[in-house]
Amino acid sequence: MASSSGSFTSNARKALADAELQRALQNVRRGFILKRETAVETLPEFDRLRAEARAIKDHTLGHLDLYLEAYEEKVNESGGKVHYASTAAEARDTVLALCRAAKAKRVTKGKSMVSEEIGLNAHLEGAGIDVVETDLGEYVLQIRGEAPSHIIAPIVHLNKEAIEVDFRRAHRALPSTRKLKSVPDLVAEARAVLRERFITADVGITGANLLIAETGTSVIVTNEGNGDLTSTLPRVHIVIASIEKMVPTLEDASTILRLLARSATGQEMATYTSFATGPRRDDDPDGPSAYHVVLLDNGRSEMLGSVFQDMLRCIRCGACLNHCPVYGAIGGHAYGSIYPGPMGAVLTPALQGIEHARDLPNASSFCGRCEEVCPMGIPLPKMMRAWRERDFAKGDPPLRQRIALKVWAYTAKRPLLYHALAGAIMPLLAWRAGRSGRFSRFPFGKSWTKTRDLPAPEGKTFHRLYGKAKRSSSS
Ligand code: SF4
Repeated sequence: MASSSGSFTSNARKALADAELQRALQNVRRGFILKRETAVETLPEFDRLRAEARAIKDHTLGHLDLYLEAYEEKVNESGGKVHYASTAAEARDTVLALCRAAKAKRVTKGKSMVSEEIGLNAHLEGAGIDVVETDLGEYVLQIRGEAPSHIIAPIVHLNKEAIEVDFRRAHRALPSTRKLKSVPDLVAEARAVLRERFITADVGITGANLLIAETGTSVIVTNEGNGDLTSTLPRVHIVIASIEKMVPTLEDASTILRLLARSATGQEMATYTSFATGPRRDDDPDGPSAYHVVLLDNGRSEMLGSVFQDMLRCIRCGACLNHCPVYGAIGGHAYGSIYPGPMGAVLTPALQGIEHARDLPNASSFCGRCEEVCPMGIPLPKMMRAWRERDFAKGDPPLRQRIALKVWAYTAKRPLLYHALAGAIMPLLAWRAGRSGRFSRFPFGKSWTKTRDLPAPEGKTFHRLYGKAKRSSSS
């Protein structure tokens, strides 16, 4: 997984100057936000479902060991097999071993953020296996050699003109005179190219939106149907999922599914919601002859019982990204992490270590919109703050920042000193700003004043003005 350390500021600067990206990001604002709003408004029980979903996940996380065991038992009963992987490397090796055992030459893949997290494609390709992404967005990214920029809309940063160029470069065998201007043209071409690959794949790999303990089922939601073709056509189906995707029952899954699509794309339900339980049975019309589930930990069990446990309720709907002003300004790639936006700012440090992702919890205005829209009620700003505190406690932030915070903490804990200093500095700053009431340059505020003026204090502190107002109202 890509590290974000040291590159966020320059990435963000580039993203802000990228006119094409800025144009594409308008789609996030226009599309997802309004559609979610309508979907939520037309479901009166949305808040009740949200509370129920939160309780389901809290209960499951509190008994995760038991539910993992129950899930494994059911998968075994249905003829499948569960493989546990504590690290990304273990998960990669397990999937590769399964592919080798199946003598796989070609693997088709449904969209899976966990497989991005562990860098699965490069690992399989390095072993000589042809890996084909079958989600349209992921397929385009594979051609471009890029990572997703959004957890549910991986190519939200691209426009159709860019994809046309990619398809013309990648599909050289097709006539150069073909029409590729519209979205339907592009979709039709991808469908035709992928069809042959679906049929010739030996192994299909999918992620899982949910795992159901009572039945040993994995659930995927897609809008393209590629997940079904990936899981049913090849001889072997491998599900790769992280351990926190577990829910106890089918009923619980249905509660969460009602929230997922509404929060993600504003749909009542995704076009396809597919349930896979074990390999093909004798009377099944189709399906794989072998079914494996690779369950990835990769740092999640350390989050259990910690201040970051609530993050494990995440259902990867992307609503927090769509509503985040920082994500909306710079897009996903600037984060330098597979998981961008507010959810990535909490999850990435947990997976990689805060020393490799310190910029991410700082890339927030703390407006709180992410928590407000999160269907699982995850307190994202609180957890970003917790990462900032941990980073500070480790002594890793730059010296200037640490000194400034220490001086602030010292004075804030001594009200008399604080008021005396503020009372002296405020009028001085107001005088220095002059009639404009603004600073176009300010010591330690270079980044702020580069793009806008800094308003100067009006001369008196809030406490003094408040005290004065209170005195005059009581007299
Ligand atoms: S943190 Fe909440 S809003 Fe963000 S992706 Fe996860 S469930 Fe969705």
